[in-house]
Amino acid sequence: MDKNWAEMCKEMQALIAKEVTFKDGIEKLLALRKSLFEQITQIVSTFPEEAFYRMPFAGAEGYHSKTLAYSVWHIFRIEDIVAHEMIAEDRQVLFSGNFRAAIHSPVITTGNELSGDEIAAFSRQLNVKELYRYAQEVARSTERILTSLTYPDLKRRFGEDMIEKLKRTGCVSDAESAAWLIGYWCGKDVRGLIRMPFSRHWIMHVEAMRRIKNKLCLQARKGVDPVAFCGLSCNHCFLSEWCGSCRTAYNTCSFATVSPDRKCPNAVCCREKGIDGCWECELLETCDKGFYVPSNDGANAAKAQAMYIRKHGKKAFLKVQDHLHERYEFAKVQEILGQDRQEGLRILEEC
Ligand code: SF4
Ligand code: SF4
Repeated sequence: MDKNWAEMCKEMQALIAKEVTFKDGIEKLLALRKSLFEQITQIVSTFPEEAFYRMPFAGAEGYHSKTLAYSVWHIFRIEDIVAHEMIAEDRQVLFSGNFRAAIHSPVITTGNELSGDEIAAFSRQLNVKELYRYAQEVARSTERILTSLTYPDLKRRFGEDMIEKLKRTGCVSDAESAAWLIGYWCGKDVRGLIRMPFSRHWIMHVEAMRRIKNKLCLQARKGVDPVAFCGLSCNHCFLSEWCGSCRTAYNTCSFATVSPDRKCPNAVCCREKGIDGCWECELLETCDKGFYVPSNDGANAAKAQAMYIRKHGKKAFLKVQDHLHERYEFAKVQEILGQDRQEGLRILEEC
């Protein structure tokens, strides 16, 4: 489990356990959820549509055997049901905002009853943007509920009437793989529900989503030219575990994700010019597009690399990158090549 999230979860539980620190515990819980939700936002805003229904770990044991879309649906359906049916006893977000139709979900359940190909087929049907909007709304409404809780509320328990009520909603399938959920939730007090599903459940599924997206990036990069349009090497980039490269749809490089339509200006420009990379462009030295924007402290190091490729080719460049990483410990290439592109080129040529 991610150390930071595990630590926050542990601290939160210790804080809510005492009346005097209860409110701090709720604050810690909200901070943890914010950090986890940021990861979901990052995935939704940077990954292509197909990423949400692919199952790179199909057949494996564990949450990572699902899809990204299923994970988001499952986390927030469970939260919506527990927060609104059990704790607040009001209307679920799914039904209050016409989300179901917008998401195009064929079910209203948590999805526990689905398996293998059913999960992939289900995920394919979902409108991910609307699903994300639903997730945001559920998270917000849960936070309102959590902040209104008092310390004595933690001991509140649920009886037979709640079990019957949850069954009547039809939000939990009566298939064996799902029906147990009702007894599981109703066997807890509010404090137990804060752990599952409001904190630990998020951690487990968001971590699984991380594994899925990292694997999708690795798969996307297989057999793809590892030299980026701007002159960086994907094989040597500190983001290589999380980015599928700018030559695939899985480009999560920050210069792509902050650009219109998530398209990096260097990649767009090279494609428009029909060239392999900026090293083939006569404007390289003076260009200030995308990664070469003067405010980027890595601009000249990337240019030095593009200049090296222009002189010596990509094969030699990748070898030099290997040497550079054998010789020095660094994350960003400008830490070694500096800010002067001629000097950077000299360092590369002498390496
Ligand atoms: S800045 Fe653009 S060209 Fe360079 S690695 Fe990132 S996406 Fe690719
Ligand atoms: S103009 Fe700039 S971004 Fe476009 S190909 Fe030339 S060097 Fe690359």
